[in-house]
Order: sequence, then C-alpha cells, then structure tokens
Amino acid sequence: MSLAAGMARGLGIEGFELRKGKGVIGGLSHCQGRPSPRLRLGTGVDDIATIKSMKQRTLAREVSIQGSALHSGEAVTLTLRPAPSDHGYVFKRVDLSGAPEIRPRADLITDLVRATTIQSGHAKVQTIEHVLSALSGCGIDNVVVEMNASEPPILDGSAKPFVDLIMSGEPIEQDKDREYFTLDAAVSVTKGQSSIIALPCDELKISCTSADDRGIHTQHLSLTIDPDIYMTQIAAARTFTIYEDIEELLKLGKIKGGSLDCAVVIRGDKIISKEGLRFKDEFVRHKILDIIGDITLLGLPLKAHIIATRPGHAINADLTKALAEKLLERQKGPKKKPRPAMVMPDETALDIRRILDTLPHRYPFVMIDRVVEFIGEDALVAIKNVSINEPYFQGHFPNNPVMPGVLQLEAMAQAAGILMLRRGSSEGKTSLFMSADKVKFRKPVRPGDQLILNAKLTKTRGTKLATAEVTCTVDGQVVSSGELMFAIVDSSAVD
Ligand SMILES: [Zn+2]
Repeated sequence: MSLAAGMARGLGIEGFELRKGKGVIGGLSHCQGRPSPRLRLGTGVDDIATIKSMKQRTLAREVSIQGSALHSGEAVTLTLRPAPSDHGYVFKRVDLSGAPEIRPRADLITDLVRATTIQSGHAKVQTIEHVLSALSGCGIDNVVVEMNASEPPILDGSAKPFVDLIMSGEPIEQDKDREYFTLDAAVSVTKGQSSIIALPCDELKISCTSADDRGIHTQHLSLTIDPDIYMTQIAAARTFTIYEDIEELLKLGKIKGGSLDCAVVIRGDKIISKEGLRFKDEFVRHKILDIIGDITLLGLPLKAHIIATRPGHAINADLTKALAEKLLERQKGPKKKPRPAMVMPDETALDIRRILDTLPHRYPFVMIDRVVEFIGEDALVAIKNVSINEPYFQGHFPNNPVMPGVLQLEAMAQAAGILMLRRGSSEGKTSLFMSADKVKFRKPVRPGDQLILNAKLTKTRGTKLATAEVTCTVDGQVVSSGELMFAIVDSSAVD
C-alpha cells in the first residue's frame, strides 16, 4: 500500500477502516519489539544472509496469524503452509466453495487503486503486497497462503508481523536450486511524474526516491536487498497517509482511533500517529517494501537494479508486466535465427524465400522465381514463370499480352546478380547493373511460358566488376540473350 493509493482512493486510507491493528501469531500475542528470530536452515548455518547456496526455500511447518482485514475490518486468519519445490506462491481462499487457488501473476492484476489486487475467475485477493514482500524479502520461494477472506490482515501496516510469522515457521532449504530472472537490457516505465527503471545487475538492488505533492517528505534510499537487509531495514516500515486526506472521514467518525496503529499519519510536516517513526526515512523504506512485494508477481525472483522515482502500485505493476513479457520471450527460447542475406557457398539451389533474402527487389519487380541449380562457381540456371496475373500485361498489351523485353533483361540482370553475389564474401554486398551489350529479343514471351535463364560469368576484374552472359529459353527455344556488366558495391552505398 502507499500514500498515493490512499490519496487516489479519496476516502479513507490504507488501514483506517481497521478496528484493530495488532496481530496474533500462533495464538500468542505478537510483540512488535521482538527481534526477528534467526533463520534456521538444514545446513546448520544460522544466518540466511551468509548462505551462499541458492536453494529454494519453504517453511518447515504451517503457521497462522490473525488480524483485521483492511477493507472489511473483519477478522481474518492467514496461514502459511509449506509447499514443494517449484510451487511458488499460491493464495487459497478457504472461505469460498471449492477453496479456489490464485497464483499471484502480473496478468491477473485487476485493481491498483487501493492496493494490489488480483483476480482469477470469481476468486479475488487484495492488498497482497505486504505478505508477498515479506515472503520474497525473507527468501521464501514456495508456500501456500491460505486466507478465510479476500485480504490478509493489515496488522501494523508493515511487513514485520509477516516476517516474524515466516521465521516462526522455520524456513528450510529444499532440493532444487532457485532460478532467478536476470536482465540483459534495461526495462523502464514512465507514468505521469513517476518512473521506474530496471537495469541489469547480478543482485537485487533498489534505489528509490519517494515524494509527496507538497514536497515536504522527499526521501531517497538505495539498498541491496538480501534477507538480512530486508528484515532489519525494510520490513518494519509502515504504510503512510496524509491527515488532510482523511480529515473528513475522521470528522464523520468513520475512522476509529484504534486504526492509527496500522499506518503513519502525516499532518503537514508532523507525524500524528501514536507510535512515532520507526526510521526517519520510513516512507521511502515502505515504498521499497511495496516494490519488493509487487515485483513478486513476475513469478521468479529478480536480480536487477531498480531505480524508482515516486513509485506506486500502478507503475510497479507496469514494470512487472514489462518484465513478465521479457520473461515470456526468454521462456519461448531464442528467436529464430534470421536467414543469411547472402548466397551461402553450400547452397545448390534457391527457393523464392532465399531469393527474397538475397535480392532487394520486391513486387512487382522480382523477376526470378527459383534458382534451379548452381553449376560450378560461375554459372546458374534460374526460372521465371510468366503468368497472366503479372501487372504489366494490363498495358503490354491488353489484347496481345507480351512480356516486355526490358523485363526479360531485368530477369537476366537478377539471375546474373545472384551469381555474382555467390562469389567470395558477398555479405553486405549488392551488385549494380552497369551496362548491357549484344542484347537480342528473338521471340515473344507470353503468359504461361516458363523463362529458363542460363547465366554464366565470363569476365571478372578483381572483386569489383564482373561480366555475365545470359540466355533465356522457353521450351528449348532461345527467346532473348545479352551480355551484362555489374559492379559489386557495399549495400550501404545504395541505401
Ligand atoms: Zn504498502
């Protein structure tokens, strides 16, 4: 949740419909001041931050917490249950028939005004970012989050009660390695005055600048996020709101005093909550807490440097969606390698796709349909199928369609051009038709004819100039011929 969310809502704030802010873990009174228990792992090492292996983690046992739901104010029980490797996080609405499960994913986000809400079918869960932030921040990969309401308890408006809950469930390593999503290029999103950029990085680092419209509480913090940092620097930061935004509701008696336990209330430059600030820059820390929660909807832990300016749930979701697209592309595998734009030495023929790869010509000026064969280094046989659908027959001539001689010459030039590009290193080269000599047109070529072109290189001068003789036949009869000269140039020279 965030300040922006509370303001956008226009009525009330995160947590202010609550009657109670205190949570209960495992039936025992939850103590805010208690230091986080050390993570216990099967390796015998007792501090998660020092663990070098990157195995997936779940909880050794199921744990529950009770509190009030943010929006309904009703009592809700949230239970974290151990889950197998590669399971991920799944919410389970045990209050609905069939106990539907919802996997938190960016494409299921339906509402970002109040907090982060996801919906699958009729089942919805909302305000899920703090519990997800705690799970991710503590390095938990696999867990079922059972709730008997649509949202987790708000507790004190921070993630600390969830961290304490996770620790009481005794995180344990699993067999499989954790898979991270890493970037090979920056991903960025801008929305109004907010922007967020994820840069390639070999760890999760968040640099955040939070600011309110009045410019009173601009704060900045940059942290590398690991479980130790998360638990000591981030988890306890509470959500916050501006007093003026809730003043009307207070006057109407719609917000009870007890609700001040679950958010920091700012009035002007003063904090009027019962509990003072936990960090002098608590607001930016909570923004980082929300980012960590919101990016879990990617579905894989992220390694990136996130630079956020005035972030909120909407822009966090946009970033997560953009990252999810990249992840999907990655999962689909590498893009098909483009075919080479040159004739490869081992190609013995070219179909129309390869001709289009090789020649720059396009409709209505592709005058070769196929290279039937290359004969040695210096010759080829190509065909051009002449059809009544050729556009030039409309005017050449309507009652007596005949293929123009200049287009036969163009076909000869294209055939010879392909031949030339097969010699030596032709990548990035284009052949330019320089001159034609001894051109003869002997018989008309009509729709239905197949023009067979025999092209042979006769002279070459270095790698820059070449001459080719080309003969065109239809049904074994020579219909045209010519001697063509070409210059081989860099493709960039003709762009
Ligand atoms: Zn929040």
